[in-house]
Amino acid sequence: METKYIFVTGGVVSSLGKGIISSSLARLLLSRGYRVTIQKFDPYINIDPGTLNPYEHGECYVTVDGHEADLDLGHYERFTDIKTTRANNMTTGRIFQSVIDKERRGDYLGKTVQIIPHITDEIKRSVKSLGNTGKYDFVITEIGGTVGDIESTPFLEAVRQLKWELGKNALSVHLTYVPYLKAAKELKTKPTQHSVKELQAIGIQPDILILRTEKDIPPAMRRKVAQFCNVAPEAVIQSLDAPTIYKVPQMMHEQGLDNLVLQLTGTESIGEPDHAAWNEFLHKLDTATETVTIGLVGKYVELQDAYKSINESLMQAATYCNRKLNLVYIHSEKLTNSNVDEKLKGMDGVVIAPGFGQRGIEGKFVALKWCRDHDVPTFGICLGMQCMVIEYARNVLGLEDANSTEMDPNTSHNVIDLMEEQKSVSNMGGTMRLGAYECKLKKGSIPAKAYGKEIVSERHRHRFEFNDDYRERFEEAGLECVGVNPETGLVEVVQVPALRWFVGTQYHPEYQSTVLNPNPLFMSFIRAAISDKK
Ligand code: GLN
Repeated sequence: METKYIFVTGGVVSSLGKGIISSSLARLLLSRGYRVTIQKFDPYINIDPGTLNPYEHGECYVTVDGHEADLDLGHYERFTDIKTTRANNMTTGRIFQSVIDKERRGDYLGKTVQIIPHITDEIKRSVKSLGNTGKYDFVITEIGGTVGDIESTPFLEAVRQLKWELGKNALSVHLTYVPYLKAAKELKTKPTQHSVKELQAIGIQPDILILRTEKDIPPAMRRKVAQFCNVAPEAVIQSLDAPTIYKVPQMMHEQGLDNLVLQLTGTESIGEPDHAAWNEFLHKLDTATETVTIGLVGKYVELQDAYKSINESLMQAATYCNRKLNLVYIHSEKLTNSNVDEKLKGMDGVVIAPGFGQRGIEGKFVALKWCRDHDVPTFGICLGMQCMVIEYARNVLGLEDANSTEMDPNTSHNVIDLMEEQKSVSNMGGTMRLGAYECKLKKGSIPAKAYGKEIVSERHRHRFEFNDDYRERFEEAGLECVGVNPETGLVEVVQVPALRWFVGTQYHPEYQSTVLNPNPLFMSFIRAAISDKK
């Protein structure tokens, strides 16, 4: 069949959940047996979000091929099990860079290079590059930002042109907001009407409207929206606030979103959707009564999105262990020897978060010492693993000023050091050790048992590494290197076997944990946290 292109745009306000709607639609189409991929266009000038701090843009997600990507790609993967790559995330920066490179090469010789047609052509080329592989029945393209943003204009113009060129093979799904005015006790559709007008003024007639709302929207109100916006009444769908984002596919299916997409694109149905595995997960989520309490020690505790993939991985693993996750954020900057007991004593397990820089680092050492002393299951991820090594060096090996050269370039015990290949790097963008690398696990170690195999592949994002010169001293003192890169010997996983579950990974297992395939190491961690529960 010809590839169908679905464009998801948003209006009225941001944060309505375009990523979740796009992921849910992808999930529904996949469940029906179609070949689907999903991509995100971000209208900012950064080449990628790798140089943005979490306050700006939440977590930076990493794809298998080492692209630092928008966190929506994390949702895409968690909902669909699709392995995204750099082709699934474009920014204005990359589009412009590519056009400017072509201009310098002389590809447009003699012509004035302009937003239309050159930038828009480049956007269109990017949109279609996945579809042109012939590997997909559906390409879902989410356009970041909201209609009316100056930044999104070239993207929306490209969508307008594509809709015109592709006819029935293109579909516009527009997500808007229907606010509830408490004082008036009324839902208001006017912002939606305005948003659709804005989209129509650009030349895009939406085919499907999804209305994000806190309250049930009565059918008469939906008909009114349909009438005002030139959309069929059955194509006005509501997206009610859900107790969990993982219910959204079901909610969309019940309102016929997937059917509608097939109908409007003239796609033949190839069978009934199979939601069995997904529903089983939802059932577990609904029926768990006992909880598991996990403390997440990090410095971005006030930001829900900063540790998105870790939160989701913990939640998925807890669900499969029939537990509700009670995630407690513990601010590493505020953690001291005098309050650590009070802050950590109720935890069944503790995660030491990834991160960069000095801020909040001492609190992570305080937490780690407490966890070791109390033998609480502890999971160090990336910087968290590096902190495990530093704390062990200071308090067990007796190397008082042990540190990472990231925090103290002059430390006399650089137990964590800049990787050799990083020493010549001066550019900050996209230059870390990124993406999937193999790791060989030691037989009998916790991770080897968890994965049930000795060679695994996980994703990375770091510049510093365990300093091999100290390996023997650590191992003699009880901290073992139980996972290494088979080619370079770089230490990927450490474990203290004398403790029940004390594991640190240089890699980020949270980037490879999905609803249908939770990451084995998170599963093992949660199991330990539960079994240790007194
Ligand atoms: N800052 C550390 C490094 O660059 C850890 C990075 C991380 O936690 N992602 O190696």
